[in-house]
Amino acid sequence: MTPQRPLAQTLSTPTRSLAGTAADHLLGTDTAERMAEEFGAAARLAARSIAAAAGPTTGPGPAALRARLDAVDLRTPLGNTAAALEEATELYLRDAVYFHHPRYAAHLNCPVALPAIAAEALVTTVNTSMDTWDQSAGATLIEQRLIDWAADLAGLGPDADGVFTSGGTASNLQAMLLARNTAVAGKPGSLPERLAGLRIYASADSHFSISTSASLLGLGAEAVVAVPVDGLHRMDAVALQAALAADRAAGLHALAIVATAGTTDFGAIDPLPGIGALAAEYGAWFHVDAAYGCGLLGSPRHRGLLAGIEAADSVTVDFHKSFFQPIGSSAILVRDRARLALVSHHAEYLNPAAEAGRAPNQVDKSLATTRRFDALKLWVTLRSIGAEALGTMFDTVMDLAAAAGTLVKEHPELELAAEVQLSTVVFRYVPALPVPDGDLEPLANEIRRALYESGEAMVAATTIEGVRHLKLTLLNPQTGIGDVAAILEAIVAHGRRISGERTLGQVQA
Ligand SMILES: *Cc1c(COP(=O)(O)O)cnc(C)c1O
Repeated sequence: MTPQRPLAQTLSTPTRSLAGTAADHLLGTDTAERMAEEFGAAARLAARSIAAAAGPTTGPGPAALRARLDAVDLRTPLGNTAAALEEATELYLRDAVYFHHPRYAAHLNCPVALPAIAAEALVTTVNTSMDTWDQSAGATLIEQRLIDWAADLAGLGPDADGVFTSGGTASNLQAMLLARNTAVAGKPGSLPERLAGLRIYASADSHFSISTSASLLGLGAEAVVAVPVDGLHRMDAVALQAALAADRAAGLHALAIVATAGTTDFGAIDPLPGIGALAAEYGAWFHVDAAYGCGLLGSPRHRGLLAGIEAADSVTVDFHKSFFQPIGSSAILVRDRARLALVSHHAEYLNPAAEAGRAPNQVDKSLATTRRFDALKLWVTLRSIGAEALGTMFDTVMDLAAAAGTLVKEHPELELAAEVQLSTVVFRYVPALPVPDGDLEPLANEIRRALYESGEAMVAATTIEGVRHLKLTLLNPQTGIGDVAAILEAIVAHGRRISGERTLGQVQA
């Protein structure tokens, strides 16, 4: 028999030696002040980089940055946070892509609201996890209030609910899962049998995450019917009706209809009222993907563009796109909170069924388990500057995009692909004299790369009916029309130079 020893004595040796390192490197009572200092130092580094950025990029290529990174020996730590941050400045900050810069006009990235950045300090240090009440307490109530607030803005009614997610891709997946489980509930047969013949209708311009969701959900990407769009790239409701009728006659069933409120390329808003009516007629789940267009929910002048969203069964909103929030900040909203139970799982260690209802557990509604308290960023933003300030900023970028569209239309060498709707401008550079295409790379790609490499501006590109176009995504209310004019001028200058070189190449050949 081992002689009895007091528990504290048994444990004292290993605890003490561990404590030596832990007290130095982990957040605890004794390091709280140091945390604040280091956080402040990091914030100052970031501030300096933001203020010093001469353009949205320095135009680095992967090879140059990889060489710098390859030189780092991960087995040899630098010993302290300051040194590691200094190194990160070289490896990352100096040549990062800066979304706050007025000449950044590429993807759906917004400059972020200051209160949200400050809130990030709380999110990361307290490190609340949103899965259960016993890991989050008041954080759960704050997230719920914001869900109620957003669902109310969308007009989803008294039974609405939802949950924060990491992004629109995750929100769309959860919406399609809820739609699928609603469609197969109570049907006989194995799941593959019940999934056969189910169809999801979305416009040809809808986000690819809809077809990815269909694949993940066992429907196959081929279950997604690409409904044609009109001249403004909005879903053609007549074509939708025809597809629904033909498929029904063929024995297929409409599982969901997805309307996009703000397509990624054109900012097109599908005709929500008509699509909602067809969804009701065909017994299909009506999902509105407002990942981009959700900014209209707070807009004093353009909220009306979302009329019809209130009939949705589910809505995707990306606060990190048009509510000026840091990534990630998204939510799925649903009209009928009971539907969220379709994805609930009760784990004995976490949220046992026997204790359901005793305290709110967000994991009951989420596809994630451990989850950041991202909602606090939006909460602090709203409590600090209010929703109208955010909506007004979205109005400002819409005005800017409209003015940019006019500049494009007026320029003899630029050709607008479609009227500006939200805050994107899709167009191409058309040289004054025709240049040979042959096997050459599309002019749009070369212009875009030249802009990137020069660091003067960043724009995106997309393909419309087989033709490569350039795209401005304007989400920065600090960008002026002078900035847009400068970007367009740079595009034309590069376009002239590159097409001139091509003509010369042809003459010499
Ligand atoms: C950006 C976007 C998504 C995807 O959202 P993430 O936050 O990038 O995952 C989905 N739908 C539309 C219309 C989008 O523009």
